[in-house]
Amino acid sequence: MRKKVSIVIPCYNEQEVLPYLFERLNAEIARWEQDVEIICVNDGSRDRTWEILQKQCNSDLRWKAICLSRNFGHQPAVSAGMAHATGNCVCIIDADLQDPPETIQSFIREWEAGADVVYGVRKKRKDTKIKMFLAWCFYRVIARLVSIPIPPDSGDFCLMDRKVVDVMNSLPERNRYLRGLRVWCGFKHKAVEFERDARAAGEPQYTLRKSLRLAMDGIFSFSAVPLALASHVGLWVSALALLGMLFTLAQRLFRPWFSSIGLEPGPGFATIVISILFLGGVQLICLGILGEYLGRIYDEVKQRPVWVISATENCGPLT
Ligand code: UDP
Ligand code: MG
Repeated sequence: MRKKVSIVIPCYNEQEVLPYLFERLNAEIARWEQDVEIICVNDGSRDRTWEILQKQCNSDLRWKAICLSRNFGHQPAVSAGMAHATGNCVCIIDADLQDPPETIQSFIREWEAGADVVYGVRKKRKDTKIKMFLAWCFYRVIARLVSIPIPPDSGDFCLMDRKVVDVMNSLPERNRYLRGLRVWCGFKHKAVEFERDARAAGEPQYTLRKSLRLAMDGIFSFSAVPLALASHVGLWVSALALLGMLFTLAQRLFRPWFSSIGLEPGPGFATIVISILFLGGVQLICLGILGEYLGRIYDEVKQRPVWVISATENCGPLT
């Protein structure tokens, strides 16, 4: 039986890039021997993205589209697409052609050779220097904090077998850091190197704030180390305070000797102000860390759906 490949594409304000995407992807899938379905998820775009997607779906039944009721974010949009995919494997690719559609064929080859998850590793990125630097730092920090091995420089560009997709779809969590969940699922993984191009057209939709949020989701949904860090910092600060206390006491008791080496005790208020500010800072940081976890628990407890669909094209009835 012919295998079917589903391609999930999240789209947020991508009207400029969509014509290029249709052209390049159609040219690419024409060369494949598998059946293909392409699911574009309109993540509450404010431009003409949805109209353009609708037109494409009307002219080609292999193209399907889901319209979310508002901007839910990249990861929820991809999750919505994955939930509607019907293929034997699902490939996730950005709309802006930064991930070359031509690479998907090597993903499929690895999948057919037995890999359950094939993910793209960026050999070279054509992004801004600051974004590249932050991404570099992030992947090294997360590698030290989380217990599952999230490979550095891998993004959401990947292909997953149906059994992995089923596990991912069944995970109930709302803060979805997909490239982490993908690793958490287990199964056989295989990396494929590719060069990440510059955006084909339009503006990046991931602002620095959104990228930072994603990075925090990655860390806080997969690691309890920051919590342990809070208590470690507490211990070290207490140890430091004890040393400071002993030193001040000695300074008062052996004043002549300390004066002779130039460490005359100063007026007390400076020490008090510094230690209050220092301790206040440490406490606020620890509270912030607790807050990050608390906020996430709050999100999970509310049990709200991760996305809401307002319309679909070529997908059958609304779900
Ligand atoms: N995207 C989305 N919702 C958002 C932000 C982005 O669906 O709130 C999509 C966007 O249309 C693109 C992909 O996610 O297909 C990656 O976005 P972008 O190219 O802006 O991110 P970058 O490549 O800079 O990480
Ligand atoms: Mg991009």
